[in-house]
Amino acid sequence: MSTSSMAPPPPQTANAVNTNKAHLDPLPPSVFTLPQTAQLEALYTIIRDKDTPRGDFLFYSDRIIRLLVEEGLNHLPVVKKTIQTPTGSSYEGVGFQGKICGVSILRAGEAMEAGLREVCRSVRIGKILIQRDEETAQPKLFYSKFPPDIKDRYVLLLDPMLATGGSAIKVVEVLMEHGVPEERIIFVNLIASPEGLKTFTGKFPLLKVITGWIDEGLNEKAFIIPGLGDFGERRYCV
Ligand code: URA
Repeated sequence: MSTSSMAPPPPQTANAVNTNKAHLDPLPPSVFTLPQTAQLEALYTIIRDKDTPRGDFLFYSDRIIRLLVEEGLNHLPVVKKTIQTPTGSSYEGVGFQGKICGVSILRAGEAMEAGLREVCRSVRIGKILIQRDEETAQPKLFYSKFPPDIKDRYVLLLDPMLATGGSAIKVVEVLMEHGVPEERIIFVNLIASPEGLKTFTGKFPLLKVITGWIDEGLNEKAFIIPGLGDFGERRYCV
């Protein structure tokens, strides 16, 4: 048969996405991923692509951040609340219980602040900077500024990449020293490594982790593979 008469192959559709659960099976009970839809995978494909221009990287990473923040808020407790509607009816609904704040891990975590502000009007946001101590090679606290009543709030901890987990563990230790109970912290990130997730959840099993995608692992430079490279560089360097 002549190949010239054959119909071209149909374009590949991918409604069943790569499920990345295999990279961490079983998933620790405190870890929640975004629904692994084809749309989400398309967003990740854009931000992972080394040729994606910075403007598109900003736009599409912001879309994922918004989804992650919304998912994080799903894990906050609610209490029963009855209200009156304009029709004179009574409605038995729920209201959020307790106050929240964000804490961004500098510098990359700052990129997630706008996404939190979009959904939580006038939310308080603290900041923390952890760097490697040159002498001990351990993560060291360099700067922190938190809302004064942080111990009474639920904390959404913002950092886009969970690689080894070393900085995030240090941050949680600092938050706990400020009186925030482990179970009132929700760690939100775009991409996590299985190694980082295992170390982090092993240390803080009560703390919920919301991640968009679990990747294959870490390379020798502690970059997430396949990952997206250096998030801060992709986001801030023109
Ligand atoms: N931080 C990044 O920006 N990228 C990684 O792959 C790991 C940590």
